[in-house]
Amino acid sequence: MSTQVIRTVVGLRDRLASVRRAGASIGLAPTMGALHAGHGRLIERTRQETDCVVVSIFVNPIQFNQNDDYERYPRDLARDLEFCRARGVDIVFAPEIDEMYPSPQRAFVEVELLTEHLCGRFRPGHFRGVATVVMKLLNIVQPDRAYFGEKDAQQLAVIRRIVRDLAVPVEIVPVATLREPDGLALSSRNQRLSAAERRVAPALYRALERAGERIAAGASDVEAVKKEAHAALEGLPGVRVEYLEVVDPEDMQPVDRIAGPVRVTAAVWVGATRLIDNVLCPLAAVTQVTERA
Ligand code: AMP
Repeated sequence: MSTQVIRTVVGLRDRLASVRRAGASIGLAPTMGALHAGHGRLIERTRQETDCVVVSIFVNPIQFNQNDDYERYPRDLARDLEFCRARGVDIVFAPEIDEMYPSPQRAFVEVELLTEHLCGRFRPGHFRGVATVVMKLLNIVQPDRAYFGEKDAQQLAVIRRIVRDLAVPVEIVPVATLREPDGLALSSRNQRLSAAERRVAPALYRALERAGERIAAGASDVEAVKKEAHAALEGLPGVRVEYLEVVDPEDMQPVDRIAGPVRVTAAVWVGATRLIDNVLCPLAAVTQVTERA
């Protein structure tokens, strides 16, 4: 079956009503386009687990706290459609701004606590914009399952919390981060890196991985682990750490001692490009190694 491109909410609702009448399940993979193999992984998983795959492509203006970042965000719908066709996507929902925001937005979704630290602290309003557009997409599509990448771990935690606290009838499926062979997490923003910046960028994952290994090996001094990771990054040309934290993976609050699974998560600037990444240290790894010690 070929990929259908739908640009209006009414058109999408009509089409999905007939999908539902036929008894088919619906999966949604929300994206901002500039699709790469990381998105591909989300799409493939959706394809495996649901009958009708919907990919939304929408660069959401209300989640950008800097106008020039929104304007500079890469866009290539023709290429994205080819990408979706090649992966057997049934429907691409690609609304214009006026279709998603026909009048000034007055209703927003706010998530407390989980948005206080990390990206929430450095990008004011970002998660309000994300939460609102995701809620809107879930209401428009009403999928059985929606797929989100672990690369954006705070976003994933926020969305899970919305679904739980607002009783949204959807299953949220996390998808593991796809990386380049040198460890750099795939991201639409990687295209902005110069050749020299691209060479230093994998240091982010290496520093997180090392911190994760130290924690899994029983390191109890979180500050010392963070300091070491900071030091590994700050010395590199053009690199500035925005934040680097060890957090509880559910409420995204920084921890000062390890009592369960944690995520080590960071945002760094490489030149004018902001990269984020994280690693999960599951309790199993922590207790396993602690027991051996
Ligand atoms: P974006 O287009 O950047 O908003 O991303 C759309 C979805 O793809 C989000 O759920 C991201 O977490 C996910 N995603 C982005 N990059 C990757 C990656 N490298 N591996 C897995 N999922 C990703």
